[in-house]
Amino acid sequence: MCGIFGYAGNADAARVLVHGLELLEYRGYDSAGIAVVCPENGNGHAAGSAGISTAIAAPATTGTISITRKAGGTDSVARLSAAINELDPDGTVGIAHTRWATHGKVVERNAHPHTGTSGNVAIVHNGIVENYLDLKAELVADGVDFISETDSEVIAHLVSREVDRGASLADAVRNSMRRVEGAAAIVATSALEPDRLVAARLGNAGGIVIGRSEEAHMLASDIIALLPHTNTVAYLESGQVVTITSGDCEITDLSGTPGAARFTTSNRSADQAAKGQFLHFMAKEIAEQAESVTAAMRGRVDLATGSIDLPELDLTEEQARAIDRAVFIGMGTSLHAGMHGSSSLEALARIPSYAENASEFRYRQPVLDENTLVVSVTQSGETADTLAAMELARDSGSLLATAVEAEGTQATRLAHTTLPVRCGQEIGVAATKTMVATMVTLSLLAARMASLRGNLSPEQESEIAHALGSLPSLVGDALSRDEPIRKIAQELTQYQDLLYLGRGAQFPVAMEGALKMKEIAYIHAEGYAAGEMKHGVNALISDLMPTIAFAPRDTMFDKMVSNVNEVKSRGGRVIAVTTDDDDVMKSIADDVLYVPRTHDLLQPILNIIPMQLLAYHTSVALGMDPDKPRNLAKTVTVE
Ligand code: GLU
Repeated sequence: MCGIFGYAGNADAARVLVHGLELLEYRGYDSAGIAVVCPENGNGHAAGSAGISTAIAAPATTGTISITRKAGGTDSVARLSAAINELDPDGTVGIAHTRWATHGKVVERNAHPHTGTSGNVAIVHNGIVENYLDLKAELVADGVDFISETDSEVIAHLVSREVDRGASLADAVRNSMRRVEGAAAIVATSALEPDRLVAARLGNAGGIVIGRSEEAHMLASDIIALLPHTNTVAYLESGQVVTITSGDCEITDLSGTPGAARFTTSNRSADQAAKGQFLHFMAKEIAEQAESVTAAMRGRVDLATGSIDLPELDLTEEQARAIDRAVFIGMGTSLHAGMHGSSSLEALARIPSYAENASEFRYRQPVLDENTLVVSVTQSGETADTLAAMELARDSGSLLATAVEAEGTQATRLAHTTLPVRCGQEIGVAATKTMVATMVTLSLLAARMASLRGNLSPEQESEIAHALGSLPSLVGDALSRDEPIRKIAQELTQYQDLLYLGRGAQFPVAMEGALKMKEIAYIHAEGYAAGEMKHGVNALISDLMPTIAFAPRDTMFDKMVSNVNEVKSRGGRVIAVTTDDDDVMKSIADDVLYVPRTHDLLQPILNIIPMQLLAYHTSVALGMDPDKPRNLAKTVTVE
């Protein structure tokens, strides 16, 4: 959640900061704000004058902090940008924040940056301060007045109090963050040290990426905000504190012991964040999916030999055979992708497998051992619940793999094996291309494990490899069938409830179709296993609730025909999603959406595409912004 950006350089900080927020807006848009340190001539504060000293020399000047904040609506960054154009705060150092509120209403007083009482310090914060009530009580007893209802404000006061007592900003941040419990990433600025920013990271509440260019150092929650400036980046670890100026970057731990920033060159490009000719990032990302599946397969599928490899999965046949159970963990769309992974692995590799919501898994004392394969799915690599579940798995000695899009993130550091899904950064809050790329990656995992364990004949392997080879063109074909979906979307705008039904491999598709509709069109939608209907859900069937039924011509087809007939005979409207080789559904269902036919293992990947388009067009027809669903943010770094 939340986007943080910090800049210490030679350019106009306000403009750089606002542009950074525009790129981070997908992480939260409840409010947006910046603090720019405007320099004044005067006596500099001696950095490191108390406590542990920093090696970066003390600045020669002091400054004042100018704060601008806007809250509410989904356009806070745009309104902030307009305000900045007018105010034009002068300064080359500053911090910025786009909020996804956890504590306190969406109003300007709760917007970040927050300041201490004397106004000498401003901070931005991502995450949750779990002991904020205790810290607040202590600060109130010390005479501090709180302005906001946020947990974050306690950090501003703690740091500010230290600075008022003579500590350098870096010491103040270290001392304050040692008192904070929970997961938090902060960036702080001080009027007394106007040339620098200090950032700290505790736990897994979102990362901080440090960027270095010729004329600046920068800090951001996501590398995407740094790419317009630089490709040279380093990642701050939990428990580390970094001080940046335009020319220097210094890392310590929370007690001041020096550490090293390991800068590497990222191969990502700034273009990945541009909408191009599309109205929304979501539309662009849906359209990119033929390339996404290609990227996920590159170097892993050999069509000449009909073989499948997953070079990142560094397992011997013996190790693969020793695995007696697999658990896929994830949240939201990632969980649905994990469900696909789990049923594919069980079907092909004959390993008992299940998928579970990471937030449930982490708290229910699951039985895990060294023969368990745990596969986490997290497109951002930052999802708090998934990271906590991964820690649990690692501590239990299980083999831990992660399917992830974002490079260098915490998930990749925790896992023994990283399976990159490689589709490129996704900006739309509702996941699309990361899901299909993950489903491809997990299908490869299932096939590879099956072959290592001797459960996949060369003929079966070659059949899957060739089906994968034609997947990009079939995805392109599925995407081109937009027109009938648009029409149905228009009709769905009249309804308040929808039912999505699937069986077997289509069950995760039903869940995901319903989730997409809830997320971006705000229509109540239920994803159900079709076999559940007679056990309660049939009572809901009426002409007020259309049913979307997934019925490709797989082994479950006849069962789905019965389900569709049952809904029809109770007066329900049915939109069936079937494959090109079917000519039965059109005589039973009210509408039929056809998708190209592929191997059963990969069919869910094609079936999800019309559901993404359906939710997208319904959202747009209802006048909503699918890129910014209310109350949601892309990367859920708090539980
Ligand atoms: N807990 C803080 C707040 O509610 C920060 C939330 C965020 O990460 O955006 O303001």
